[in-house]
Amino acid sequence: MSERPLTDEERDLVEAIGRGPDGRSTDIASGLGVPRWLASHVRHCSRCGAPLTASVPPGENRERMACTACGLVSYINPRLVVTTLPITEHGDLVLIRRGIEPAIGTWAQPGGFLEIDETLGEGAVRETLEETGLVVEPGVLVGLYSRLEAAVVTLVYEARIVGGQARPCAEALEVTTFAPTAIPWAELGFKTSWWALRDWMRLRHPELPVPDHFEGREGH
Ligand SMILES: [Zn+2]
Repeated sequence: MSERPLTDEERDLVEAIGRGPDGRSTDIASGLGVPRWLASHVRHCSRCGAPLTASVPPGENRERMACTACGLVSYINPRLVVTTLPITEHGDLVLIRRGIEPAIGTWAQPGGFLEIDETLGEGAVRETLEETGLVVEPGVLVGLYSRLEAAVVTLVYEARIVGGQARPCAEALEVTTFAPTAIPWAELGFKTSWWALRDWMRLRHPELPVPDHFEGREGH
């Protein structure tokens, strides 16, 4: 991390680049620090157990959660959610109707948090199998989507269904196949899903119309 202040030219260039396409799926402004709901989960030092306070450590330019006793900084970074768009041999798309909060009852692609001891591809396969009963082979990366509201980055693979059998579970009340012309746009639960499906449609079905704004019931 550089302590040198940016020149005016550098700042203009950085501002012109903006948030990037992964920022389309969040409504929260950048630069607001650790969300309060998340900071409240991290209250004690993992090394010595003393309370943490928000402060700017020496040599840094942003607030961190730092230990009041030993000074250890507890870095709080986004978590990675790995998901797939499972595609049938006919080119249709499998979505799940969510059985758990957030956004219970809405449609989304299968996926979940990446575990610390697996690769992205392994996580995508595992989560898809757990939630849908389908074995998929991850293919192209459709996109990455920031979600500051939930402190996550959602990664979306297109994935070919190679085995298994669709079956609902507690996390997925329904596992349903949709033709590209029948995607339930208005019943999606997450802006990340909406943007991922839009990007997938641009990739595979640029001839088909897509809605121009998110109408779903927003979850985090
Ligand atoms: Zn400590």
